Amino acid sequence: MDLTLSDDQQSFRAAAREFLDREVVPFRTEWDHAESVDLAIVPKLGEQGFFGLMLPEQYGGLGLDLLTYCVAMEELGRADSAIRGIVSVSAGLVGKPILAHGTDAQKERWLPGIASGELLGCFGLTEPDHGSDAAHLRAKAVRDGDDWLITGEKIFITNGTWADVCLVFARTGGDGPRGITAFLVPTDSPGFERRLVTGKLGLRGQATAALSLTDVRVSADAVLGEEGQGFKIAMSTLDTGRVGIAASCTGIIAGCLAAVVDYTTQREQFGKPVAGYQLVQDMIADISVDADAARLLVWRAADLAMRGENFSIAASKAKYFASEAAVRAANNAVQCFGGYGYVDDYPVAKYLRDARVMTLYEGTSQIQKLLIGRSETKISAFG
Ligand SMILES: Cc1cc2nc3c(=O)[nH]c(=O)nc-3n(C[C@H](O)[C@H](O)[C@H](O)COP(=O)(O)OP(=O)(O)OC[C@H]3O[C@@H](n4cnc5c(N)ncnc54)[C@H](O)[C@@H]3O)c2cc1C
Repeated sequence: MDLTLSDDQQSFRAAAREFLDREVVPFRTEWDHAESVDLAIVPKLGEQGFFGLMLPEQYGGLGLDLLTYCVAMEELGRADSAIRGIVSVSAGLVGKPILAHGTDAQKERWLPGIASGELLGCFGLTEPDHGSDAAHLRAKAVRDGDDWLITGEKIFITNGTWADVCLVFARTGGDGPRGITAFLVPTDSPGFERRLVTGKLGLRGQATAALSLTDVRVSADAVLGEEGQGFKIAMSTLDTGRVGIAASCTGIIAGCLAAVVDYTTQREQFGKPVAGYQLVQDMIADISVDADAARLLVWRAADLAMRGENFSIAASKAKYFASEAAVRAANNAVQCFGGYGYVDDYPVAKYLRDARVMTLYEGTSQIQKLLIGRSETKISAFG
């Protein structure tokens, strides 16, 4: 594994950072307070290549690799996790599985729009009574001639009220993971209702929604992959998703580090910069080590994936470590800022609020530990 980025990857990082510093960073607090980003940013992100980064050029993408995607996620995490989530869900949790499992017709219908940012996707797995235990989800799809009728409830769906297409996981067979099928459902279908979930601790600029589907009719060509393969598709999609989340957590930690170094070397108490006190440097050192360790776990997982090896557990380790580290680093960063860290004049308060969800979604820290523990012991502690 090469621990340096190529010239192209470094140029990509520089261009991404320059764009985000201009188009996102100056507005992130305003969007956070408004509980919505300005959606005019979405096509601009598309033009910059964020949505199509891993999609082939044939569909308007850049055809770049997972490591470059991780670089993009790190920069997005540093700039604004709300924006990062809009991109990673549409591109990573919807665009990527369409590319991996879709028919040519499905790819042609959805991928060019997703790559440009003209269309947004959302990923409908979690239900009110089935979060970590997604294998027993209850949304149901029944046949009606050649069509399917889908009925069920989904909760906490990122991009939910904005998305044009929802990757809906619904039960078409018996109980358990093998009875689940994935469907690409246009969100303007009759019977598809969505309600905004407000009052979030963090990621406030991002639309999170409750979805309610009542006899939503889709034709047979809405099935993504094979009938009964939905849970497999969801889990393999989340493997890559977890690497992306871990990369974006690395961005939060790196953002915290830059902010605390800048602030503590200027802020004076007792006649010298607070960075000159060992107890403050202790916190800064922890943030610095967390940034490096998180990034290395991300790159290791990306490297395995790019070499075609199984990277599922490496993804869980990266996601578990980086998400916990992001919370720890942001908490340390607030401490380094003193009272000024508790208000929105500096980015660290928002980093802390945004970081908090990272240990929850795409598999909680407990679920990642169960996956890692099962892999080590060959004994499942689930259920
Ligand atoms: C802002 C936000 C955005 C989200 N976006 C999406 C999205 O786009 N699409 C989507 O499908 N979902 C999304 N989610 C949902 C998210 O993935 C779930 O919240 C998450 O999987 C946890 O499920 P739950 O909330 O039902 O918690 P539960 O599963 O009820 O867990 C509660 C607690 O019990 C623990 N626990 C559960 N089972 C076990 C076990 N076997 N052993 C030990 N501990 C256990 C958990 O770790 C947790 O601490 C989002 C959530 C949030 C908050």
